[in-house]
Order: sequence, then C-alpha cells, then structure tokens
Amino acid sequence: MKEPILKVRDLAVEFATYGGHVKAVRGVSFDVFPGEILSIVGESGCGKSVTLQTLMGLIPCPPGRVTSGSAFLGDRDLLKMSRQEMESVRGKELGMIFQDPLTSLNPTMSVGAQISEVIIKHENLSHKAAFKKTVDLMKLVQIPEAEKRWGQFPHEFSGGMRQRIMIAIALACRPKILIADEPTTALDVTIQGQILELLKQLQSEINMSVILITHDLGVVASVSDRVAVMYAGQIVESGSVKEIFGSPAHPYTAGLKSAIPNPLKTHQTVLESIPGSPPDLFSPPTGCAFAVRCKSAMKVCLQSDPPPMSLDKTSLRADRFSKCWLHHQYAPLALKEKALHA
Ligand code: SF4
Repeated sequence: MKEPILKVRDLAVEFATYGGHVKAVRGVSFDVFPGEILSIVGESGCGKSVTLQTLMGLIPCPPGRVTSGSAFLGDRDLLKMSRQEMESVRGKELGMIFQDPLTSLNPTMSVGAQISEVIIKHENLSHKAAFKKTVDLMKLVQIPEAEKRWGQFPHEFSGGMRQRIMIAIALACRPKILIADEPTTALDVTIQGQILELLKQLQSEINMSVILITHDLGVVASVSDRVAVMYAGQIVESGSVKEIFGSPAHPYTAGLKSAIPNPLKTHQTVLESIPGSPPDLFSPPTGCAFAVRCKSAMKVCLQSDPPPMSLDKTSLRADRFSKCWLHHQYAPLALKEKALHA
C-alpha cells in the first residue's frame, strides 16, 4: 500500500465576523497519494476552497483562524510553518491554480516574466536559463509560438490560454501536489475539456498529485481517481470515482448524482434538485448537518452528528466511508420503527 504524501487530520477553520464566528471547515481529514487526482466536490460555501487555501497558508489571519488539526506534507506540518517556510513550500512543493486566470495574473507584467519569476525565486537560475525553461513550460502547456508570446501581456491571451499560463506558473518548479481550485469554471465548455485533458496528461507525465476542487460532477467523473464529497464544512462521503458514481452511499451524494441532467431522458422537463439550503455555519446543528433536507432522516440524526462509518468490507481502506447514521448496524431497526410510527 502506498504511503500518502499529504495527511490532513481533523482540520477546523473559522472566521470572525461582526455576526459571530463562521465555522467554515469542521474536522476535515483526508490523504493524498502520489500520482493520483483527488477531487473535492460540494456546493458553494461548503468549505472546499477554504480547506485548500488553509493548506497553502492563504487565508487571512485574522479574521481566519485554524482552531484544530494538522496537515503533514512528508514529516512537516504545513499548519505550523512560519511565513518564510511556507513561501519556500508554495510553488516548489505545492502549486495552485485559481478559478479566474484574469484576476490571478498580474496585468502589468508579461506572461513570460511571471513564469520566469517563480523559476528564478525557487531555482536560483540565471535570467537566460529561466527564459529557456519558461519557453519549454509554455510549449508543455501547448501555447503556440512560445518564444514570440513570452513578452505578451495577459490581456493579449484568451481565457483558455490564460489558464494555460496559470498552469505553467504552477508547474514551474514541478510541485509534488497541484491544487486546482475550480480551474475550468470561468471557461466555455470546449476549452474546459481541453484544460482538463491537459491537466490529466501533465499529471501522468510529471507524476504529480492533483487536488481538484469543483462543484461540477461531470468534471469529477472525467478526471478523478478518488472523490471526497463536502457538505457544511465536513467530508460526508469518500471513495473511488467508481464507488461515488456507481453506489453513492450518503443521501447528499445520491442527491447530487440525481441532479445531473440525463440527456437520454428526452421526456424529462423538470430537473431534480435537493430541496432546502445548507445550515447556518454561525451555529451548526448538533446532529447531522443534512438532516433538514434528508428524506431518510431519523430521530438520531437530529440529536447526534454521525461519525464516518466505514463502507469497506475489508476495513483496510480508511478512504471509503459515509458520515451517515444509515450505515450504522442498528439503522435498519430505526427505519423499521419509523415506518411503524409513520
Ligand atoms: Fe440523512 Fe440521517 Fe444520514 Fe444525515 S445521518 S444524511 S439525516 S440519514
């Protein structure tokens, strides 16, 4: 069994606001293995971006605050690193690409200079060597006429090409893990496909791991090896892409899956949706956060937050679980009781 290169345990993050403390991430644990694509999926505001930005040391503190947890990259805890240590890790060991390449790139610098800057900072190369490496990277991410376009500015590139530049910056020092935060959301559908294909190709060429944050299940299905489903600041289900799509165990995952439009159902006029809205994270509920929206909710669901329940029969895999009372050994009895009193 492979050893994970990143181990996140019991991560909790909150933000101080005038209205109180928002508990944005509530006890998140996951592993990232070498050479895999792990997708973290969930609706807006579920805490997926905050989780990854915390690992990169990018949340502003204050108002943000890590209230518990650890995140070991090898034998170093990312959450205990000084600002200087974190700067040497960012770019070199952890790369990140953001949702909107236009606002993430510096409009006053040529794209080539922005890629070279990372190489010069982390690899101590001469400007000439950095230029050559930058051109190679631009070719790797399929920018045509790379030498000529080195000196052009972000506004001279299309949305898809700008995202390729962001990927080149993130890959400049061949990071162990690339974090891609909704990398295709701002792009049109055909360009989305090209960028995902490029990410997958680069991931296998360089053998790096990718953590992909998205709310698009189509994207998840096409590129991921494993999936973690987040809801209200917690991971509620985790498994391989086949398990999550083939046999979703948590009612929220099942709801997300059934909300995907089916092009084969030509008579379908109403799209399925999950009724209700996520809970207020100023004061999260005592029981299961999904209870008020869940058709299978039982009495226990309102009283107690379910722990992650293993769905792996061999019990060897910690990454196949559902955080739902339905998977408790006594759940069938509770359901029967509910039916009797219905
Ligand atoms: Fe539904 Fe209860 Fe499972 Fe929560 S724990 S998802 S309320 S069945």
